[in-house]
Amino acid sequence: MTNRTAPAEKTEGKWKFGDLLRDAQVRDRWEKVRKYFFLRESTYDMTNRCNIRCDGCYYYEGEKQFAPENRDPGAWRERMHKEKERGITYVVLAGAEPSLVPELLETCFEVMPLGSIATNGFRLIPPAIGYKIHISVWGNDETSRRVRNAANLLERQLDNYDGDPRAVFVYTFTKQNIREIGEVAERIAGRNGKLTFNVFSAPVGYEGPLRHDRASLEETRRAMLEILARHPASVLFSNYSAMAHTHGLGLHALYGCSYPRRNASTDIGLGRSFRQYRADLTWDRSVACCVPDTDCDDCRHYAAGSAVVTARLFRHASDPDTFRSWLDYVDTYLAVWVMGYEKGENLCDRLVDPPGFSMK
Ligand code: SF4
Ligand code: SF4
Repeated sequence: MTNRTAPAEKTEGKWKFGDLLRDAQVRDRWEKVRKYFFLRESTYDMTNRCNIRCDGCYYYEGEKQFAPENRDPGAWRERMHKEKERGITYVVLAGAEPSLVPELLETCFEVMPLGSIATNGFRLIPPAIGYKIHISVWGNDETSRRVRNAANLLERQLDNYDGDPRAVFVYTFTKQNIREIGEVAERIAGRNGKLTFNVFSAPVGYEGPLRHDRASLEETRRAMLEILARHPASVLFSNYSAMAHTHGLGLHALYGCSYPRRNASTDIGLGRSFRQYRADLTWDRSVACCVPDTDCDDCRHYAAGSAVVTARLFRHASDPDTFRSWLDYVDTYLAVWVMGYEKGENLCDRLVDPPGFSMK
């Protein structure tokens, strides 16, 4: 979340920023989200093991999977203190599977109280660890068994995180599971769970059946909008989120990715402060992003978007609907990533183009 919401460009176009804020609803939302401009993120692989094995997992691509685990809580405590010193305020704990090392999660939480954990939800992360918990859902139970080798996964996830305010279920749309979202959303909403959407982004070199094409992206967009309308209290998403993540062009082409892997500048924002630590607590700037070893041309990942889209404030300050759409996007990501942040009603009820591109 480094500079996820901080200004990175100069205003262009005929609307002045003050004009856009004249509407009271828009101004209130702006004031609500700008309180979080202080968030500065880095990410950490907590372990190199996983208790399931999914087709298309980006962790088991590239070099990071071979890093040996550092399981010394003292080393992690020291790292967290150093991260704080260099201005990091938000941690994303991922892996392979972080729930396998609860003692390290606890250590991180003691020093760095803001953050989130990406988990498959198979094992409960102890309630005392007060991070947001993102539980990955890749389809219905049958698909999970086929693609992730995990039986009754959704039931298990729902039982583990029943009524847990930390939990957000993250449905990853692949080319194959688009039509399953209806039944999955029904089950999550039926248990009062929160749900958001991700789009499968192929790891480098992946040519398997989950990779999207133009038709599946369009179908995904339609499904997202339909489910958002059907379950407004459960689904944390917006029209603009659907637009940005299902466009034929990936996030880098549309917005210009700010993570070091695609951004040579070390002057400001993510380029200066973002690091992606491996399980041995080393990091490599040349591959550093929140989803390393993902194919940048196919990157539509929700975690990437929450930094890349939100950093483009002034590009979206071009007219009222585009700015409202951007506010909806930021409001959505804060509700997904920050404990205690409540999503407001979306401000823009139509699809707007990404700045400089058409929506097709
Ligand atoms: S649960 Fe996550 S880390 Fe484990 S194999 Fe699946 S995608 Fe990879
Ligand atoms: S994979 Fe996505 S987030 Fe990572 S550098 Fe490429 S475009 Fe950016």
